[in-house]
Amino acid sequence: MYIIHYDEIGLKGKNRSKFEDQLVDNIKHLGRVKKEFGYIVLYAEDVSEELSLIPGIAYFGDALKAELDLEDAGLKIKDLLSGKSFANFRIDTSRHNKSFSKTSQQVNEILGGVVLDNFDCKVKLKNSELTVYVEVCNKVIYIYTEKVKGVSGLPVGSAGKVVCLLSGGLDSPVASFLMMKRGCSVVFVHFVNKTQQSCAVKNKISELVKVLSKVQGESKLYMVPFDEIQQEIITKVDSKDRMIVYRRFMVRISELVALKEKALGLVTGDSLSQVASQTLENLDCVYSVYDGVILSPLIGMNKQEIVNIARKIGTYEISILPYGDCCSFLIAKHPVIKGRRRDFEIIDSGLNLGLAEKAFVEAT
Ligand code: ATP
Ligand code: MG
Repeated sequence: MYIIHYDEIGLKGKNRSKFEDQLVDNIKHLGRVKKEFGYIVLYAEDVSEELSLIPGIAYFGDALKAELDLEDAGLKIKDLLSGKSFANFRIDTSRHNKSFSKTSQQVNEILGGVVLDNFDCKVKLKNSELTVYVEVCNKVIYIYTEKVKGVSGLPVGSAGKVVCLLSGGLDSPVASFLMMKRGCSVVFVHFVNKTQQSCAVKNKISELVKVLSKVQGESKLYMVPFDEIQQEIITKVDSKDRMIVYRRFMVRISELVALKEKALGLVTGDSLSQVASQTLENLDCVYSVYDGVILSPLIGMNKQEIVNIARKIGTYEISILPYGDCCSFLIAKHPVIKGRRRDFEIIDSGLNLGLAEKAFVEAT
């Protein structure tokens, strides 16, 4: 069984049980779940990898259960360690049961004594080869040797729904993950130029969604055809302005998805000034076509920080595969850097904005 701890959920006062129930809901596909006071027990085998990606979990251990009795705990520790070889160890006790007759330090000493008596080893408190974690709960004692760090944050579903503009690049999958980590469930939208792009792109996007589904559970993906809109823009818009106009269309279509999905905001992978389309002025031009909130959790991050997260969650290897992003289709080498809303409103007046609705309807 796994003993699972959460962190922030515990701070939520009266809402606490709502958050706990959400987390229970999010892990119950892995096995039988029991909610206890301050932690959760999951009866399952071999699900460490899955748990380590589920938001809301601070840390967990694959544990053995002993009675609320140090003698039994000692026996269980002997079982757990038999066959293991280690030159030194330490016991790390947390005492959730405040009325337990021994202090944490006393538990460390008593159970440490059991290990010393039965194995050829020494106590080493810092950098020990082996740590035996002991959690004294109200009715039982849990024991484990691997404490696995989770992603923390809040359980998916506790913060509402958002729509993420998911490209095939590095950034937007990480942005989605960060929103999930704050409790959002994420619906994905990808814009694709079918005449220009191969099915490799489609595969790439579904692979990314598959990885992100390990974090939030089943996910929805809208593939929106972008060819006609791009034709319209290429015919009528100066190449230096095209990128911003593409992105304004993407936001408009994403708004329609958000309305349909009853989502409260949009998410992008923008990071301030990372590329020309992400200067403050240009983001203003793009975001202003949407009335709701646009969340860009990478806005203050450096590329390396984003890459580190992508590696950790497993999207990096997929994102770096080459693909033709439809945004880079026929745009100028030196695009506008300091766009002005007014200029794009004028450009819009010459465009068929109804194509946004049409593309939305044609999405698959
Ligand atoms: P990413 O690595 O996420 O592609 P980027 O640094 O390449 O980001 P841009 O290509 O300017 O930056 O895109 C900025 C954001 O616009 C992306 O993070 C994504 O949210 C959205 N976006 C761009 N292209 C698409 C697309 N084809 N489909 C869906 N969203 C897109
Ligand atoms: Mg991109």
